[in-house]
Amino acid sequence: MTVAELQKQFWDKLSKVYDEREARAITRMVLEEILELDTHKLSLERFRILTSHQHVLLSEILERLLTHEPVQYILGRADFFGLKFNVNRHVLIPRPETEELVDWIVSDFASRTSDLRILDIGTGSGCIPISLAHKFPSAFVEATDVSEDALEVAEENNRLNDTKVKFLKHDILNEDLLANTYDIVISNPPYISLEEKTFMAENVLKFEPHLALFAPGEDSLIFYRRIAEKAFHALKPFGKLFFEINEAKGKEVIELMEGFGFTNIELRKDLSGKERMVKGEKL
Ligand code: GLN
Repeated sequence: MTVAELQKQFWDKLSKVYDEREARAITRMVLEEILELDTHKLSLERFRILTSHQHVLLSEILERLLTHEPVQYILGRADFFGLKFNVNRHVLIPRPETEELVDWIVSDFASRTSDLRILDIGTGSGCIPISLAHKFPSAFVEATDVSEDALEVAEENNRLNDTKVKFLKHDILNEDLLANTYDIVISNPPYISLEEKTFMAENVLKFEPHLALFAPGEDSLIFYRRIAEKAFHALKPFGKLFFEINEAKGKEVIELMEGFGFTNIELRKDLSGKERMVKGEKL
């Protein structure tokens, strides 16, 4: 079987489960990774005959994709902010919305990149701090997570991207932060309430870590409350807190940030028009 024939088989089968654009994007990701080709080479090599090993491997991957397993978990890889990240089922797959949050921070601090001290809370794969460390090479970047399994993935990504983020195990719900230390605190904490679980896509619910998705208990903003309170204390004067938020909770997050003393609060929409990010300043 040739690369082109296999590509067609992937498109046909995957378009029953995914929309056509996504089916094509997934096929491209799989072929590039397994055949170790970039997009340009892939089209040049379309008449190449697959080895039997490649054929078996690709058929197995197709079966898993048809069960809705995300391609990033199957390949163990995700792209984020132009960098490569290892992922497994202990961490969320980095999302494009989160790239927008990182982009906001990068443009906000473009004129002040030296001596920045940055903390990311609930770091998962480490996609946020590693991207920031990459953009701000002289910054001192720290990141925490309660999950040791996630921290292991984040450390791998630190090596993979040649960054020096300091990863620490820390439970923000129960432990304090250093006072007056950071210029930037960021968090994309678990923000889905248990009632929203029924509306979620099957592939997210079935494969991604529930610890990273769902807020525990009754208060779906518990992480925002604890983080805003502790971040206010941990930020230096003029320091900023950035959150990724549940699109339905913008107003409540702003109110609670105001309650803990933040000013100049700004809410931003993501590319799909959903209220997705908030920034506040400690004056
Ligand atoms: N900070 C990580 C991300 O943005 C993990 C987020 C989470 O686990 N809630 O992907």
